[in-house]
Amino acid sequence: MERVKELETSLLERLAAERWREGLRCPRCGGQRCVLHMRLGAGGRRKLKCSNCGRSFNDLTGTPFARSHLPLSSWFVAAGLMALRTPTCADIARRLDIKVSTAWRVRRVLTRALADPLLRRVLASQEALPCA
Ligand SMILES: [Zn+2]
Repeated sequence: MERVKELETSLLERLAAERWREGLRCPRCGGQRCVLHMRLGAGGRRKLKCSNCGRSFNDLTGTPFARSHLPLSSWFVAAGLMALRTPTCADIARRLDIKVSTAWRVRRVLTRALADPLLRRVLASQEALPCA
């Protein structure tokens, strides 16, 4: 369980590092004055706050994974499958141990996400996934 949590944290840090490479920027107003608002749990997701519009966000806000119930590692594994070939929904479902209908959604979301150069760069680099 601890290893899974470490992997999730590592993937989130990787995504955040790539996303905020040129500094934090509010996904809603584009403001650059953002501060750490709070951190959820030890080593957990950080919540940021924009000083311009006052809205809070996290490292996933505005990404296709923002409201997902799947762990970030599942998205990375599925992206790895998609980078190798065009997996069927049944392939993705089997690999991630999820329903075929969820796998269909994952594949659809990833197809769009992989068109984004930033997400493609993050998702395509698989060295963070020793178990993939
Ligand atoms: Zn803002």
